[in-house]
Amino acid sequence: AAEEGFDIEEVEGAIEEAGHGPLPVLAVVGRPNVGKSTLVNRIIGRREAVVEDKPGVTRDRVTYEAEWAGRRFKVVDTGGWEQDVLGIDASVAAQAEYAIEAADAVVFVVDAKVGATDTDEAVVRLLRKAGKPVVLCANKVDGPSGEADASYLWSLGLGEPHPVSALHGRGTGDMLDKVLEALPEAPTQTFGTAVGGPRRIALIGRPNVGKSSLLNKVAGEERVVVNELAGTTRDPVDELIELGGVTWKFVDTAGIRKRVHLQQGADYYASLRTAAAVEKAEVAVILIDSSESISVQDQRIVTMAVEAGRAIVLAFNKWDTLDEERRYYLEREIETELGQVAWAPRVNVSARTGRHMEKLVPAIETALAGWETRVPTGRLNAFLGELVAAHPHPVRGGKQPRILFGTQAGTKPPRFVLFASGFIEAGYRRFIERRLREEFGFEGTPIHISVRVRE
Ligand code: GDP
Ligand code: GDP
Repeated sequence: AAEEGFDIEEVEGAIEEAGHGPLPVLAVVGRPNVGKSTLVNRIIGRREAVVEDKPGVTRDRVTYEAEWAGRRFKVVDTGGWEQDVLGIDASVAAQAEYAIEAADAVVFVVDAKVGATDTDEAVVRLLRKAGKPVVLCANKVDGPSGEADASYLWSLGLGEPHPVSALHGRGTGDMLDKVLEALPEAPTQTFGTAVGGPRRIALIGRPNVGKSSLLNKVAGEERVVVNELAGTTRDPVDELIELGGVTWKFVDTAGIRKRVHLQQGADYYASLRTAAAVEKAEVAVILIDSSESISVQDQRIVTMAVEAGRAIVLAFNKWDTLDEERRYYLEREIETELGQVAWAPRVNVSARTGRHMEKLVPAIETALAGWETRVPTGRLNAFLGELVAAHPHPVRGGKQPRILFGTQAGTKPPRFVLFASGFIEAGYRRFIERRLREEFGFEGTPIHISVRVRE
């Protein structure tokens, strides 16, 4: 490395940064209007305009990446609350439940000016049951005079209330220090505890694509869908199902069956639940309804899984309904609308007839294998050397930037760092990704490539 103009510490630093494993997840929960979205904006240090959202407007995103004091983590915002027939308690509980499920630590936001309400108490009970570390945020303490309001919140029994003004930033730094103490370095439930356990599958897709039908089919029995209020009964959320002689864990299956959410005010819950399930899983099986046009909502779900860095399988359901014409258009739509996951294994299934159910497991195994692939440094550099010699980067301003060497910094999904002598254009990066995939497979997995340029 040294003779190429990079010093060893720089190289090691770049590899460590690029190779970071999955990030721990922080959930921000609380009643509507306590300031959750304002706080999330402050934590992520960006104005993503989540506060400006109109009620009832579907959020594109519920998870964000954040960094504080040099540590990176994910934040799940549950601020996209919608009033629905469940009533306020059940709605708040339902969203908190999903978020807490996926989280490694929780910030519970209470409006210190209002004090603790019955709904707050209900959330506290959920938090107790979940047993995750909790930091209590007493929000809207905009000045010293509000501190007394905050101290009343000791009564919630969650320990010290941290007085914060999410709006003005007062106290948020101290609170985030506490959050970092509570947050494990790596996700505990997703990757920590389950090493060697059953592989975890998130079955996701927009409402009515057939998730519940598929789950019933693969589980080999019809289940009764219980129409119950979320938060009142605790379903086992994960389900162990044997497929192809192997036991798999389908995560958050209770969410799939809680149809009550799918009928009312459902969009936001659906995306929150999808995000939670994706966080908990290694592989996402994304169900798409072949009988309908591929929608923006389908694409959002795909993006969520890609950004989370999960292995991905595309399952085109309701294949039994297709006629020649629809099949023709579907193939065109897949090309134009799902280009970002052209590398994902694809199965054409019918949860109704059972068509091609047996192809699901091989596809999942293929995706997981790609996700875990590690290319030895020697092989990678032999490949890069040939590639650069045969297809050099275009000359820019009289100079020709070159990829000097590279290494795979991590897996799950594969992450590469390439070291270059000058700026590498986006087109050339895409070319490298394409060639990497041709050479080494990576079927069913996103891959990350970062490029370091010699100063
Ligand atoms: P959410 O529904 O919990 O996500 O709440 P929002 O973040 O949308 O905030 C609700 C309202 O409270 C907005 O009008 C915010 O400007 C306001 N708000 C949020 N944080 C603070 C704060 O620290 N102090 C004051 N005074 N108002 C705040
Ligand atoms: P979910 O909301 O994604 O869980 O979807 P459901 O499993 O509840 O299915 C929605 C509707 O699609 C139901 O009426 C199912 O009977 C129907 N459905 C599910 N899978 C198939 C399939 O493979 N073929 C056909 N024709 N209908 C299906």
